[in-house]
Amino acid sequence: MTSAYDVLFEPVRIGPVTAKNRFYQVPHCNGMGYRDPTALAHMRGVKAEGGWAVVCTEQVELHYSSDITPFIELRLWDDRDIPALARMAEKIHEHGALAGIELAYNGMNGPNLYSREVPMGPAHLPVATFTYDPVQARAMDKTDIANLRGWHLAAVKRAKRAGFDLIYVYAAHALGFLHHFLSRRYNQRGDEYGGSIENRVRLLREITEDTKAAIGDTCAVPIRISVDELLGEGGLEVAEVEDMIGLLGDLPDLWDVTLAGWENDSRTSRFAEEGAQEPFISGVKRLTSKPVVGVGRYTSVDRMAALVRKGVLDMIGAARPSIADPFLPNKIREGRLEDIRECIGCNICVSGDFTQSPLRCTQNPTMAEEWRKGWHPERIRPKETDKPVLIIGAGPAGLEAAQALGKRGYEVALAEAGRELGGRVARECRLPGLAAWGRVRDYRMMQLHKLPNVQVYLDSHLKAEDVAEFGFPRVVLATGARWRNDFVGHQHTHPLDVAAEARIFTPDDIMNGTYPAAQRVLVWDDDHYYMGGVMAEALAKRGHRVIYATPASEASTWTRNTMEQHFIQKRLLEAGVEIIVSHGIGRVEADHAVLTCMFTGREKILEVGAVVPVSARLPNDALLHELRAANHAALGIEQLSAIGDALAPATIAHATYAGRRFAEELDAPVRPADMLPFKREITALLKE
Ligand code: ADP
Ligand code: SF4
Repeated sequence: MTSAYDVLFEPVRIGPVTAKNRFYQVPHCNGMGYRDPTALAHMRGVKAEGGWAVVCTEQVELHYSSDITPFIELRLWDDRDIPALARMAEKIHEHGALAGIELAYNGMNGPNLYSREVPMGPAHLPVATFTYDPVQARAMDKTDIANLRGWHLAAVKRAKRAGFDLIYVYAAHALGFLHHFLSRRYNQRGDEYGGSIENRVRLLREITEDTKAAIGDTCAVPIRISVDELLGEGGLEVAEVEDMIGLLGDLPDLWDVTLAGWENDSRTSRFAEEGAQEPFISGVKRLTSKPVVGVGRYTSVDRMAALVRKGVLDMIGAARPSIADPFLPNKIREGRLEDIRECIGCNICVSGDFTQSPLRCTQNPTMAEEWRKGWHPERIRPKETDKPVLIIGAGPAGLEAAQALGKRGYEVALAEAGRELGGRVARECRLPGLAAWGRVRDYRMMQLHKLPNVQVYLDSHLKAEDVAEFGFPRVVLATGARWRNDFVGHQHTHPLDVAAEARIFTPDDIMNGTYPAAQRVLVWDDDHYYMGGVMAEALAKRGHRVIYATPASEASTWTRNTMEQHFIQKRLLEAGVEIIVSHGIGRVEADHAVLTCMFTGREKILEVGAVVPVSARLPNDALLHELRAANHAALGIEQLSAIGDALAPATIAHATYAGRRFAEELDAPVRPADMLPFKREITALLKE
């Protein structure tokens, strides 16, 4: 039977190799890198199993003279790095996919904190990092350029020996020397490598030619390039990059086109729609006969097919959609669109890279646990007993536990106090910019519909006696958490002095539709993730005069890890929100709040009629304590536990992970208390 999506399953020739379909997992970081090579190999292998025709590494440091510490990526400095990379290529090949490697020389994007070598770039400039490192790069001379060509070539040959089929020339995201040479922002050279477009492209051409000459007979050579730096005349612009692509035309075997720096290419759903890159990349195909791949957080299959038909892209690139659902291609091929776990565009995955920890995903709790814990995004072992499970609360934790236990074959009852499923995501997805977060609920609801062994009870606020009436031997509370109204958080670990007449509204009040009557409202953000900024935005949208204050030195500071901080602060300023940073809160009175400078303690009085504290949350665990007090064993409950926010409030990703973990570990053999709950790879010691 033919389908509108068949076009997505046509093979694509990429130089000397052929991709079996048009699904292309572009390079993406993951916080595992050289520290966790086997876990990483298995993660990539699962993508290949899920049907991606091309599966790539993250950026791979190609020479010791440019390291990207503190980020943990892969390394191909010398032959000793080959086995770790070969393991990944093997895992990818096991499932018939092509393995791609993104060789990177960060140049002036790496302060070389590990190697302590002097970074190099096209000009004498401070290193361009996220952290304003007090290090400068030195301008490369001709010998440096010749050396770097040699190092790149040596790495290319090693990559081939490691088994890779596509070996990248990386000139994108402002993350490497080639991008720096292309961009007027960094390239201020007066020699044949600077100035005109032809000159700025010269090094990219030379490196690509070197690479093709060395391995082009058997491996494909893609170029990855940023089509615009979004800096206006100060940086690369579409027309200029199109000229560059036109100059190189058919030299590479594939063009992988990206937008500006990583924070723009991987914007969250709060700040960019699916396919936001399209207007920037749609002109590339007419400049080359070689295949073009691009990303856009694509999860709409119609959109993907249209991109191919319209001649915008030949291959659908994906990082995040492949993290949220490694089996996306197979599900499309099998016509199981309702089973796709759509990326919500939250960038929690990105935070793994920024915090040097294995990536996690809000939608796919098995991500990065494929080897460490043996979890699989589509499979879970069958039940070991016939004992039914009562799950109380249908937020992300309860929903994930219910669907995973349901798939194991357990009889499950899922009781939810509210009239809808989803818990916090059902409420939060109604806040400005967070609509896509509802997908956390939608995917799981769809799975539950298919599981006759899971009974869902809405409008069922359970008390201890109701739980006893169920008579289930396993009871798990996923009852979530509530925002505190007493200002306890990072700054105050004890409740604040608040006047009885002061008007205090928590984020829960606002989400439940209870808004302040006062015109001037203070949003006090001591949570530092998204909620404070979103509250300020929501209130400003309703016409309140909003003052946003925080003890941190910027709005929503943790969102640096999701690459949103800049966008959030911009949006708040543009919405007319007054931002006061580096101020704690001292007192709250009926008609004013007293802020205190975090450095001097100096007081600032703000006349406001209401305050919204966004600080910490408290678990909804009253039922847990009631059941424990009632001696749950006597009620026939053998196993009673709390998961997700009901145990300790955290991100939605923590909640889906907790739900999955509960389901994975139910009836598993008891682990000795001192045994690690995951596999760990340990660096082998060299002989001293
Ligand atoms: P998590 O993020 O840990 O999944 P949420 O706050 O999103 O937590 O979800 C908790 C859900 O539990 C909410 O939908 C809430 O209505 C529900 N809930 C809380 N207490 C009870 C209870 N006693 N009986 C049934 N459902 C409850
Ligand atoms: Fe998408 Fe969020 Fe998962 Fe990243 S963490 S892949 S943005 S759902």
